[in-house]
Amino acid sequence: MDINHNTGENVITSTKGYMWFLSLNIIFCIWLLLRGTNRSDIDALPLTLQIICGCIVALSLVNIIITLKIKKNINDGFYHTILPFLVLTLGLLWSILSFNFTVYYQNPLMTLMLTISVLLPATITFYISGRLLFLFSAPLVLSLLYVEYFLQERFNVAQFVGALIMLLVIYSARYILLEWYQRVQRSEYEKNILIKKLVQQAHYDALTGLFNRLSLTRFFEECVSSLSGNNKKLFMIVMDIDFFKQYNDVYGHVAGDKCLIKVSQCIEKSLRKESDSAFRFGGEEFVVLTVCDDISQVKAISQRIQQNIAHAHILHKGSDVSSVLTISQGIAQWQEGMALEALVEQADQQLYKAKKNGRNCVCY
Ligand code: GH3
Ligand code: MG
Ligand code: MG
Repeated sequence: MDINHNTGENVITSTKGYMWFLSLNIIFCIWLLLRGTNRSDIDALPLTLQIICGCIVALSLVNIIITLKIKKNINDGFYHTILPFLVLTLGLLWSILSFNFTVYYQNPLMTLMLTISVLLPATITFYISGRLLFLFSAPLVLSLLYVEYFLQERFNVAQFVGALIMLLVIYSARYILLEWYQRVQRSEYEKNILIKKLVQQAHYDALTGLFNRLSLTRFFEECVSSLSGNNKKLFMIVMDIDFFKQYNDVYGHVAGDKCLIKVSQCIEKSLRKESDSAFRFGGEEFVVLTVCDDISQVKAISQRIQQNIAHAHILHKGSDVSSVLTISQGIAQWQEGMALEALVEQADQQLYKAKKNGRNCVCY
């Protein structure tokens, strides 16, 4: 089947388009069955043609009912697999009908008009799948060619050229529609990539990949509402790298950026997946929001961060407190009714204390 390479989706036709095609099949056949009614100038359809029309109506109706019943995209599952057989059966029924139509009425032009009227909606419906279009159109075109041979007992070049032109019309129309479809798919794909990128930029910090400051508000609200009905508590840890200005001065800004990435990785590594989230709050300041049973769990997280940064062993010649990079941390607990700004303020005060106490430590 034809695969949409932009989305990887296995698309052959749209459900709506297929239903439209089946409905047209029914309408054409009913029209053929009724066109002779109450008219003296047109013969009623002979029994053979009535039976074939009845078969097309029945098959189309069953198809419509199945499609309505599965209520899913016809491009997936079992229906997707049997679709070629259904389309081929319809194509064969139409070819038998058109053959008998010409034999009975001796009017090839009328049959040609009938064939075109059926092939046109088939092209619009099956243009995505060359296979389905072929399965439907090949029996019809072959029957057009054969009927002429059958009637005149000789090969008719004009009829052959006519059939070739008809094929050319169908397949060129198919490629025009396909090109338009692929263009729409491509632009849809590019739009989705762009949306993904914008969402990424809106929620995440471009350098470290942690959540950005904007996301903090959303997470804070989510954490607060998750607290209702349980004994959990919400804490915030604010972290700041010690003597980072000197780090940049000694190692340069590019190394400074790399260092920020390493620190953010150390922080992420120290968190519990379900209940903690890390944010880049500002230049070299990070925030962790954590839902815990008590302060001991928060202290454990903060200790893990401290240890992981120590183990990363990021040399820092410009630091006054250590030969490797260190951070200072301030912890605050959220109280009922407290706004995010107030919580940040409290955690910041603790961080300030940690800095005053000689850095590379945690204050609560
Ligand atoms: P303290 O121990 O008191 O925190 O000292 P500090 O030098 O870390 O404090 P300060 O806040 O004065 O310095 C922060 C420095 O972080 C200043 C700025 O150049 C640097 N910085 C902020 N954002 C970035 C960034 O994205 N990349 C790099 N390389 N440096 C940054
Ligand atoms: Mg700072
Ligand atoms: Mg700092």
